[in-house]
Amino acid sequence: MNIQMDENPIISNVETLQAKLGRANRDLAVLYEISNAMRTTLDLDHILYIILTCVTAHTGLGFNRGILFLVNHKERCLEPQMAIGPDSGEHAQKIWQYISDVKLHLEDLIKAENVTSNIQRSSLLQAVKTLKISLGPDNPSPLARAYHEGMPLHITPDKISQYKDDAFLQKFQTNELVIMPLKAKNKVNGLIVADNLFTQKPIREDDLRLFMMLANQAGLAIENASLYELVRHQSHTDSITNLWNHGFFQNQLSREIASARAHHSPLTLLILDIDDFKKLNDTCGHHNGDIVLREIANILKDSSRENDYACRYGGEEFAIILTQTTKEQGLVIAERIREKVAGYTFQLSADADGRELRVTVSVGLSTFSEDAQTKEELIAKADKAMYIAKFSGKNRVCAD
Ligand code: GH3
Ligand code: MG
Ligand code: MG
Repeated sequence: MNIQMDENPIISNVETLQAKLGRANRDLAVLYEISNAMRTTLDLDHILYIILTCVTAHTGLGFNRGILFLVNHKERCLEPQMAIGPDSGEHAQKIWQYISDVKLHLEDLIKAENVTSNIQRSSLLQAVKTLKISLGPDNPSPLARAYHEGMPLHITPDKISQYKDDAFLQKFQTNELVIMPLKAKNKVNGLIVADNLFTQKPIREDDLRLFMMLANQAGLAIENASLYELVRHQSHTDSITNLWNHGFFQNQLSREIASARAHHSPLTLLILDIDDFKKLNDTCGHHNGDIVLREIANILKDSSRENDYACRYGGEEFAIILTQTTKEQGLVIAERIREKVAGYTFQLSADADGRELRVTVSVGLSTFSEDAQTKEELIAKADKAMYIAKFSGKNRVCAD
């Protein structure tokens, strides 16, 4: 009997097994690279970028687009944090061509310097950025469902029309997608939505299996990075006012002066001291003193721009680092803060009969490099100016 080689059941079985083995080998290699990549950093943004790169890179899972949502526990919703994916089929072709031409591997793609530029450029994130997906039990969103069930949800082309009214899917136009929950200690802390809009490659069981393995690692990496960020933030903040603490102030001022020196830009420092605070503590109690500290801290935070640093300098003294601010601009800001505090009515607690109170601050100001060349000199000059404000009647702003 003459049996053709390709009809031999043993040979075709071996071939199937070989193909499976090849695939398992590739999956293992991908997972190994991914878990190594995730161990390289504790920076949350970088971790999210690594995860999404692994989901979308050809040398990773190879999905066309991916959006990562994190759970906002306070507001009980899912918020889009990062997205990777080309804008169009044409754009996709260009990117993939570039990646294969210069032979970029995962470790090249996930470099930290790519994070900000790629996030800011992502029009995919811009499209969904403002969406908040409620995690209320009645929300029919497939993302909320995947969160509650803690299981991946694969929406196939024959089912996609069921979701035509979904707010997210109206922005993320696609005909097939997978929603993958990310878990740490059995709790979902985020999820990834991925699809193959441009290649139209069907999503197979094998893709889902590998994606699930990646998701298990990603959930843990996100948990670790979030905890690290929380602890790092706590170690830099003052627990009563939630402002930056003295240690952070000193470090940040050194950094900002170095940057101002390098860019030949001005920097202004304000030091504020509450007037007659001892009397307030003595008459209204320490607890009400703390209420006033907190309220003033809020006024300072509200009066600061994103690149300014409002800090608790000491007991009832505050400092604000105003980056890229001249003396004239600093004087305007300081005067605005002084006025805001003086015009604010502080509501004391019931043990002070719910009394209302007015409080004032004295502010000293000095500017780099006009008044001082070093950090120590800048602080000493602002401090001296603050004491001049005290001695000339309080509730005023003085510059060096
Ligand atoms: P001046 O107008 O000259 O600044 O007078 P002052 O009373 O504000 O200054 P003084 O330095 O004599 O008193 C500062 C007070 O601030 C004394 C201290 O009990 C109080 N203080 C410092 N830290 C805290 C705090 O965390 N909470 C409360 N409630 N009081 C604080
Ligand atoms: Mg003081
Ligand atoms: Mg004081």
